[in-house]
Amino acid sequence: MDTTAPLCVLCDHPASIIDTDRGNRRYVACSNSLCGDYEISRRAVAEVADQPHRKAALKAQVVCANMQSMVLEIVVNAAGEIEASSSKRE
Ligand SMILES: [Zn+2]
Repeated sequence: MDTTAPLCVLCDHPASIIDTDRGNRRYVACSNSLCGDYEISRRAVAEVADQPHRKAALKAQVVCANMQSMVLEIVVNAAGEIEASSSKRE
């Protein structure tokens, strides 16, 4: 068992994770068919860590965005709230 494999922030399945935005964000490509590809800021990773309900809701948004060939971007806004918006895949 490869214990070094990175895990999806939202569902803990094995995922491939690439640092983007000079390491401030991560692009996650999750292996779970009920999850998917999304981008999340480091701050948002910490913010959702102890919020299972929020993670489940975001996962559903990821699936929805991917179905439309979009990628969900999850960030923490100026008010300190988690904000998710989808944008066209590059
Ligand atoms: Zn996942």
